[in-house]
Amino acid sequence: MTQKKERIGLYPGTFDPITLGHIDIIKRGAKLVDRLVLGISTNPSKQPLFDLDERVEMVREETAFIEKNEGVAIEVRPFDTLLMSFAEEIGAGIIIRGLRAVSDFEYEFQMTAMNYKLNPNVETVFLMADPSYQAIASRLVKEIAIFDGEIKAFVSPSVRQKVLAKLGKTV
Ligand code: ADP
Repeated sequence: MTQKKERIGLYPGTFDPITLGHIDIIKRGAKLVDRLVLGISTNPSKQPLFDLDERVEMVREETAFIEKNEGVAIEVRPFDTLLMSFAEEIGAGIIIRGLRAVSDFEYEFQMTAMNYKLNPNVETVFLMADPSYQAIASRLVKEIAIFDGEIKAFVSPSVRQKVLAKLGKTV
């Protein structure tokens, strides 16, 4: 009897910070694979609020419960290479991306087509979050917090505290 190959998924992102939108996509993605790698991109072009180590730690803390609940192995790993090289390195056959609005589509469409040229063995799968989380974007969470807006509807209580502390706001 041939053994079934382990299905490894890669969900890449900046996660600066991880939001309830990301969590929703991770939960959905976890149902599709045997092992899910959360790839934390260095992304210096975005000048992240949290440094790479902080983001890795935050994503680990925030996703530990999903590993338990879904019974799927979740691994959080930083990467600073081309996405497709990282996918090959970890043996991922599936890349998971989230789609929010039409605005995400054009960029993702182009990236997927180019990634497919780089490695046709890796499929990109797009997932949509629950409608209540669809509009959440890390960039907006940071903007709202900078201007003293309430972000508790968009991130976990622990991430909220970290964002406020980072911005020197009272928690
Ligand atoms: P990137 O810098 O690659 O955009 P992000 O951390 O912003 O990284 O997002 C990672 C992935 O999660 C992207 O595919 C993005 O579209 C998706 N995503 C982020 N927020 C949401 C959301 N609220 N609903 C669905 N997908 C989302």
